[in-house]
Amino acid sequence: MKRDLNELENTEFDIVIIGGGIFGACAAWDATLRGLRVALIEQGDFCGGTSANSFKMVHGGVRYLQHADIYRLRYSCKERSALLRIAPHLVTPLPIVIPTYGYGASGKAFLGAGLYLYDLLTLDRNRGISDKERKIPLTQFLSRKKILELFPDLKQDGLTGGAMFSDGQMYNPTRLVLAFIQSAVAAGAKAVNYLEAVGLERSGDRVTGVQARDTLTGNLLSIRARVVVNTAGPWAEHFLGDAAKMPLEAKGTYSRDACFVVNRRLPGKQAVAVLGRTRDPDAVLSRPARHLFLVPWRNFTLVGVWHVVYDKHPDKVDVPAQDLESFIDEINWAYPSLNLTLKDVRMWNAGLVPFGINEPGATNLSYGKRSNLIDHRKTHSVDGMVTLIGIRYTTARADSAKAIDIAVAKLGVQAPRRDSSSTPIMGGDIPDFEDFVRQSMTKQRLGIDSGVMRALAHNYGTRLDHVLAYTEKDPSLAQTLGDSTVIKAEVIHAIQHEMAVTLADIVFRRTDLATGGNPGDQILRDCADLAAHELGWTNDQREAQLQEVYKRFPAFESEIAAG
Ligand SMILES: Cc1cc2nc3c(=O)[nH]c(=O)nc-3n(C[C@H](O)[C@H](O)[C@H](O)COP(=O)(O)OP(=O)(O)OC[C@H]3O[C@@H](n4cnc5c(N)ncnc54)[C@H](O)[C@@H]3O)c2cc1C
Repeated sequence: MKRDLNELENTEFDIVIIGGGIFGACAAWDATLRGLRVALIEQGDFCGGTSANSFKMVHGGVRYLQHADIYRLRYSCKERSALLRIAPHLVTPLPIVIPTYGYGASGKAFLGAGLYLYDLLTLDRNRGISDKERKIPLTQFLSRKKILELFPDLKQDGLTGGAMFSDGQMYNPTRLVLAFIQSAVAAGAKAVNYLEAVGLERSGDRVTGVQARDTLTGNLLSIRARVVVNTAGPWAEHFLGDAAKMPLEAKGTYSRDACFVVNRRLPGKQAVAVLGRTRDPDAVLSRPARHLFLVPWRNFTLVGVWHVVYDKHPDKVDVPAQDLESFIDEINWAYPSLNLTLKDVRMWNAGLVPFGINEPGATNLSYGKRSNLIDHRKTHSVDGMVTLIGIRYTTARADSAKAIDIAVAKLGVQAPRRDSSSTPIMGGDIPDFEDFVRQSMTKQRLGIDSGVMRALAHNYGTRLDHVLAYTEKDPSLAQTLGDSTVIKAEVIHAIQHEMAVTLADIVFRRTDLATGGNPGDQILRDCADLAAHELGWTNDQREAQLQEVYKRFPAFESEIAAG
C-alpha cells in the first residue's frame, strides 16, 4: 500500500469512502468485491478511531436474548460466524464463564434455560467454518467445584456453579481493519491515510466527489466519485454538519464506552462475567444488573465495558483518573479478590458509540440498537451520498454491505457480487490455523520462538511469508524487540508495505507492541531507531515521535514502568 495522492486526483471513482475504521474498511472490501472502483480516505491512521478501542469481542448476540430481540441475536451470530470464516487468523472463539448464585434471576435454572434457548436459536452458527478450533461449542454447565477450580477467587457466598458459553475474540482489532483494507487494495481499491474529507464536491443536488486535505502537508485535492459513503463513525455527524452543510435533523446521542487493561493475569484461558452495579433497562427477561467482563488479554486482563452519555466532540474523548477510579471501585466490589488500584491500569481504551434514547443524567442507560443508515436523497434531497453510523464492530461487514447496496442502486450498475461473508480476507485463507502455525515453524530456519511465530501467524495469516522475507535477506530482522513477540522485520514491513507513517502507527496499529500497554522504554526506543532509519527522521523528529507515543499511555502508567 502506497500513499499515492496523484492517483486519487486523476481517477473517477464509483465510490469514495470517508473513514478507515471497521465500517469504512468493510464497505471498501464489499464494494471492491462487486467490481466497483473504490477509494477510501482516512483523516488519521487506518483504525485510529473507535475501532481501535473496542473490547475485542465478536458478539454472537446472546445478550439480545434478554432483550427478546431475536432478529438482532441472529444477525450478530451470523456475523460472528462470518468473521470466524473469513478471518480465522484474527478471530478466535473465547470461552466465557458466568457464575450462578441462588435460585432467582442469577440462578442456574434461569441462566441455563436462556443459554439452551440461545444454543437452539443459533444451531447454524458453525456453518461454513472448516477449522474445528474456530467452531463455537455448545454451552457447558459447571458445578460449583469446577467453577472454583477455574476461578478460585470468585465471591463464594451463594455460588451454585456456572455456565460456560463462547463468543468470538479479535486477536488484534487494528490489524483486522487493516486486513479488510489490504484486501480491497489488493483487488484494485485505493486507500490513503492522513487525508481528511473537508467538504463535498456538488453539482446542483448531486454529490460528485470529496474535497480532501492531506494532513501531512496541508495540500488540498479533490476526488471525483459518483457516490460518497460517509463511514466516519462518531465524526460522521460532524462532517455532515460542518463540512457537508447537511446536518442531521435529530442529533444522535452517543455513549463514551470505556474499558481498560490491568496488571492481573486470569488463571486460565476463559473470560469471566460478573454482575456490576448498574441495571440493564432494555432487559425484558430481567437479570438484576449488567455484566462486567474480565477477559484474558496478552499477559494481562481486559476489563469492561462502562458507558456514559457524552456530548463533546469525538476528538475530546478521554477517561480521567477519577472515572477509572469509579470503574475500579465497581469491579473490586464485583470481584473483590482482584483488589485493583489505579496503578494497576496499564492502558485504557475509549470511544463514542451511538446510544439509545436516554434522559439527561440517567444512570441505567439504554444502548443503541441498530446502525444508522441514511440515504441523503431521502433526508436532504441530495443524491449520491450515503451515511452509515455503525454501532458494533461485529456487524460492520453486514451493515456496510447494506450501505453498498444503496450505493449500487444509485450507480445503476448490475454489479456481479462475490460474497464478503464467505470470501477470506487478506491472510485468512487458512483451513486449519494450528496446522498453519506448525507448518510455519517447520519451514523457518531462523530459530524464531514458537510463541513469536504464533503471534506472527495471527497478525499476518498467510501473508506471514512477506514479513519473513525480510529476515531471509537480513537475519538480524528475525530478532524480537526486547521481550515482546514483535520481530524487527514487522517494523520495516509496516513502513514499506502497510503505509505506516508515524511511530504511533507502528506501535499501536501495525504491531502488537502496545496492545497490552506500554511495552517499556527500551523497546519503544529500539522501534523508533528502526523507523527513523527507514523514514529518515532526524534525532529531534525521532524524539517527537516517541513523545507522541508516550502521551497515549495513562500518566500514572509511567510510574508503573519506572517501578
Ligand atoms: C470501549 C469500547 C468497547 C467496544 N467493544 C466492542 C466489542 O467488544 N464488540 C463490538 O462489536 N463493538 C464494540 N464496540 C463498538 C465498536 O468499536 C464500534 O461500533 C466500531 O468500532 C465503529 O466503527 P466505525 O468504523 O464506525 O468508527 P471508527 O472506528 O471511529 O472509524 C471512523 C473513522 O473515520 C475517520 N474520520 C472521521 N472524520 C473523517 C474525515 N472528515 N475524513 C476522513 N476520515 C475521517 C476517523 O478518524 C475514524 O478512523 C466498542 C466500542 C468502544 C468505544
